[in-house]
Amino acid sequence: MGNDAVMTGDDGAPHRRGKALVIGAGPAGLMAADALLAAGHAVTLAEAKPSAGRKLLMAGKSGLNLTKAEPPEAFCSAYGPEAPQLRPMLAAFGPDAVQAWAEGLGQPVFTGSSGRVFPTAMKASPLLRAWLARLGAAGLDLRTRWRWEGGLDGGIRFATPEGPRTLHPDATVLALGGASWPRLGSDGAWVPWLRSAGVAVTPLAPSNAGLSIAWSAHMAPHYGKPVKPVGLSAGDISGRGECAISAPGLEGSGIYRLSRAVRAGAPVSMDLLPDLDVAAAARRLAAGPPKATTAALLRRMLRLDPTRAALAQEFGRPLPRAPMALAARLKALPVPHRGLRPLDEAISTAGGVAWPALDDDLMLRARPGIYAAGEMLDWDAPTGGYLLTACLATGLWAGRAAARRLSHG
Ligand SMILES: Cc1cc2nc3c(=O)[nH]c(=O)nc-3n(C[C@H](O)[C@H](O)[C@H](O)COP(=O)(O)OP(=O)(O)OC[C@H]3O[C@@H](n4cnc5c(N)ncnc54)[C@H](O)[C@@H]3O)c2cc1C
Repeated sequence: MGNDAVMTGDDGAPHRRGKALVIGAGPAGLMAADALLAAGHAVTLAEAKPSAGRKLLMAGKSGLNLTKAEPPEAFCSAYGPEAPQLRPMLAAFGPDAVQAWAEGLGQPVFTGSSGRVFPTAMKASPLLRAWLARLGAAGLDLRTRWRWEGGLDGGIRFATPEGPRTLHPDATVLALGGASWPRLGSDGAWVPWLRSAGVAVTPLAPSNAGLSIAWSAHMAPHYGKPVKPVGLSAGDISGRGECAISAPGLEGSGIYRLSRAVRAGAPVSMDLLPDLDVAAAARRLAAGPPKATTAALLRRMLRLDPTRAALAQEFGRPLPRAPMALAARLKALPVPHRGLRPLDEAISTAGGVAWPALDDDLMLRARPGIYAAGEMLDWDAPTGGYLLTACLATGLWAGRAAARRLSHG
């Protein structure tokens, strides 16, 4: 790498055909490579694992939620405090563009009742196959089992099956992912490497993660059971959500979306009666037989199934007898927890390359010509298609910016 050929662009103006390197073949890296190839540059995509897109394939196992069909402002607000930084990228490649992109790869999509968008095939493999085929036809040089070993000075060094290799690209896009599910490739090993290159990195932390709970022995029969219906809240996040009991604690999308607030230390509470207000629940309790036990009242007057009744006892003991007080307790049960489940179990990673370390093109201020994209950037969002959309959007943004640099110097 390093020898540029002079070519003529579509506009007739001369531009350089540069040599680009993308590291990491997840959705962000593939999108960056796509943008660079589309601009006419030569692209090497280096991937540590034996194949591309392993986390994308895993994401497709439970139904690949590509994006969410939502108006731009509502969609953007899901990214919380990082929404302003991501807004231009999501404006350039938001939910509509994601759907058109998938369809362009021969994968029709459908929108579920919640607005979540999935490929009709539900899984990721046909999409990934079609994408890799298109990139291959455009000339992508994909090198698997090429692991970047850190270091940006004097070339970019890889451990490869053929021994060490050093590349000297004209522009590089890092798309190394976060650190959740490290066996799929993204292990966060890059954090100290970038820090030592002068790049600020916000500590990585679990997001979209379960809650660790030290259950009493009474809860063992309920492991694996859904808690339904239920409302969950922490800090300024609240609403109905899916949740299930597991041996280590609570999981499910309703729990995952509390991650940001839990990381900030907000207490978690659970509403076992999301369809009733306190007064209505109290009226039902007061109408019960005066001598009925509390357990019988929960079952007969409030129709709590055994799992929710067990949670009422687990988190609410001693349950008050007075109807108003009992109703209020059931609608706001404190959930004593031991924090989020560890990063390697989390769906995604919060933290990453800090925004002040990046310019508007997602180029590292400390290292001109090196860009970063995807989950390795410091943003966070709930599940629901927001994660993949931001990875694709930032990958495209960084890839296009790198392409401009190669074309025009
Ligand atoms: C179980 C699960 C389900 C999910 N479901 C969904 C979903 O339905 N919808 C959604 O929007 N999101 C979902 N996600 C999240 C989504 O998959 C990720 O946000 C997305 O894959 C991140 O893309 P990325 O390109 O930034 O990083 P990754 O996909 O993690 O890719 C990074 C790549 O970089 C490579 N790499 C890392 N270090 C090196 C190195 N030193 N040298 C060379 N290569 C390296 C890795 O091997 C990896 O292939 C899910 C995640 C999980 C774990």
